[in-house]
Amino acid sequence: MARVVVIGGGPAGSVFAARMAGLGHSVHLIERAEFPRPRLGESLSPGVPDLLKVAGAGHVPQASGANPVSSVLIDWDGPAILRDMRGAGGLTVNRGAFDAELLRHACEAGVELLQPARLMSTQRVSGRWKLRIAGPEGDMTLTADFMAIATGRSGGRGAKRLYAQHKTISLYGYWDLPGAVPGPQLRAGPDGWFWGVPLPCGLYNTLIFADPSELRKRPGRDTANRLRHMLSGYGQDDTLQGARLRGQPGATDATPYLDTEVIGPGMIRLGDAALAIDPVSSSGVQKSVQGALAGAICANTLLRRPQDAALAMAFYRDTLSRTSQRHEEWASGYYHTVAERFPGSFWTPRAGPPVPEPPPVAGARELSTGILRLAPELDVTDKATLDAEYVVSRPTVTHPAFDGPVTYLSGVELAPLIRRFPGNKNGLQIADDWSDAVPVRTGMAILAWLLNHGGAEHVP
Ligand SMILES: Cc1cc2nc3c(=O)[nH]c(=O)nc-3n(C[C@H](O)[C@H](O)[C@H](O)COP(=O)(O)OP(=O)(O)OC[C@H]3O[C@@H](n4cnc5c(N)ncnc54)[C@H](O)[C@@H]3O)c2cc1C
Repeated sequence: MARVVVIGGGPAGSVFAARMAGLGHSVHLIERAEFPRPRLGESLSPGVPDLLKVAGAGHVPQASGANPVSSVLIDWDGPAILRDMRGAGGLTVNRGAFDAELLRHACEAGVELLQPARLMSTQRVSGRWKLRIAGPEGDMTLTADFMAIATGRSGGRGAKRLYAQHKTISLYGYWDLPGAVPGPQLRAGPDGWFWGVPLPCGLYNTLIFADPSELRKRPGRDTANRLRHMLSGYGQDDTLQGARLRGQPGATDATPYLDTEVIGPGMIRLGDAALAIDPVSSSGVQKSVQGALAGAICANTLLRRPQDAALAMAFYRDTLSRTSQRHEEWASGYYHTVAERFPGSFWTPRAGPPVPEPPPVAGARELSTGILRLAPELDVTDKATLDAEYVVSRPTVTHPAFDGPVTYLSGVELAPLIRRFPGNKNGLQIADDWSDAVPVRTGMAILAWLLNHGGAEHVP
């Protein structure tokens, strides 16, 4: 059993700590703030509840009073629309309550919590960490085999970040409204964008994302005046009539970045301490939970199968770098849709090529008519992948259009099916050929996925 110390009890730290305890390690978690503490990132993308189920923490959204998002007002690249989001799975949460529940889950999984506690210094001695901690009961020293840094944007010691080219700042404030709280709103303006989030506690969080130079141009010395002035430009005057700010408004950096040393001997960076994505996707928490789950398998491999350390480290670095790139492409494509409406210094430099339209979705008809073949760029090679507890090398299917290498689809190992992809047959016949290995319905689903992602095509 290895001794593991996790610094930071946000979603990344708590999920990682709980998973490491579940894998049989002795885990301490050090959190400097008393909980519940406020945190931005209150809109959770639809993938979060499923990932939490995988982490054994599926109860957390409900236990923390999350609200489902039923619609979003979107005023982005054209006339404003009210998008129906019922059943899509998005949530709004009070992050104070949500993070506290996740931390409680980690403690129930066997993690020992030091809170409020602060890391004072680290020393690497003979391959182990010596950590000096100012804890709730005074100063103490912990020795650990492994250290996970999950300190969020504050980064912590030794952060070496590559920031996106264009800096973005967010100005935000929480409001008590005298009237009804509006639903979530996403609005583009000439110099940035606005995100309005109704919270389960009844407050309305207003966030403006802009170039830092934009803030300096705004009148008024204090942040509250600037915020009000800027919100007026996003049509918030009526909503905020008679509203009172709860606490001080804040300004925070919202620029995406990737740390250059996300994993190394005896250490890993998790969540925003490793990678921050553009907030326009509202999926920072999803990315942090997903990364923490993968990070735990990588850490477990470093600790228990040192012979596979290089494989695990390369896997984690590649995964984070691909995530960063994919989000950057998506965000710049999303900004592109506004750049024509508001050509100017915020949108034009941030806009990238448009996001390509997904191919028409293949169904039973496409599978039963016409001969299928594998796309010429499809390849099968041995690559690092995650199994339940370790990073292992497995035959994996790659294609430039895939989000990344694919080892399993619908719970089935894909490479063996690709290797026996028959020639001159339609989809139904291929699924039938595979039926000694997978049920026909699963085979059909895999073929449809390949067709929809460019891995297979119809013979012209
Ligand atoms: C303006 C803005 C808006 C955003 N909106 C969204 C959104 O709508 N949806 C979304 O999903 N994401 C959003 N995000 C991103 C989201 O907030 C983060 O991705 C997420 O909180 C990262 O989780 P984490 O666990 O890595 O870090 P955090 O949630 O930041 O947690 C880090 C923890 O570490 C603790 N800590 C820090 N330093 C130390 C130390 N030295 N010792 C001990 N403890 C320490 C902190 O107290 C904190 O509890 C937004 C980000 C920004 C900047």
